[in-house]
Amino acid sequence: MASRNLLRAIIMGPPGSGKGTISSWIVRDFQMSHLSSGDMLRAQMGKGTGAGVAAKEAISRGELVADDVMNEMILAELEEITGKSFLLDGYPRTVHQAEALSKAQPVDVVVNLAVPFKTIRERIENRWVHQGSGRVYHTVFNPPKNPGVDDETGEPLIQREDDKPHSVSARLDIYQKQTEPLLEFYRKEGKLAEFAGTESKVIYPEVKSHLAALFSTVA
Ligand code: ATP
Ligand code: MG
Repeated sequence: MASRNLLRAIIMGPPGSGKGTISSWIVRDFQMSHLSSGDMLRAQMGKGTGAGVAAKEAISRGELVADDVMNEMILAELEEITGKSFLLDGYPRTVHQAEALSKAQPVDVVVNLAVPFKTIRERIENRWVHQGSGRVYHTVFNPPKNPGVDDETGEPLIQREDDKPHSVSARLDIYQKQTEPLLEFYRKEGKLAEFAGTESKVIYPEVKSHLAALFSTVA
């Protein structure tokens, strides 16, 4: 890896583990391209492309989007940024996707956020939002002044459909069945770096020093 200041990374973790938050801090601190599969799918859906139409159906059923659709979309994007550092967020999510990625583009490190399911459930299932402004409350950690209503407008708070307990259970179930096996895949390759904890603010400094050390060895 002589004289290359390049880091190809994946971030993994169950839904609600803080991947989005930690990804935004990583790309800020290390100047990497952030490729979020969820964001890319939402963009495709907005444009109504073939991938977008396929994605919309799967997502509305609470399922994963087909591997072929995902591989094609992400690998095309990765080709565009050959030779640059990147952080993949939300991809790969199945062993088939990981195999397709390995063939196309090896990665240097896989960061796994090992946040307990109990913490995730408490975080997501108690989350209420004010639809108009996007203000987010938590019934225990950040409750509104008056139960069930927004502090600023007094309008009712809603719970997002995918934050309801049955949806959260379904998402965690899919994660466990289809995505968790990937950890073993990357552990065997010696690429897995695991970070356990319940709070992003506490987990991130460890992730940062791990990546900083790798950056200097590939530099
Ligand atoms: P998280 O909380 O981890 O971000 P999410 O459910 O919000 O989880 P996104 O990454 O925002 O997930 O993606 C939204 C949806 O798009 C997923 O629920 C899934 O249906 C689909 N999706 C995203 N990435 C993939 C992928 N790599 N393979 C299959 N489907 C995917
Ligand atoms: Mg998301």
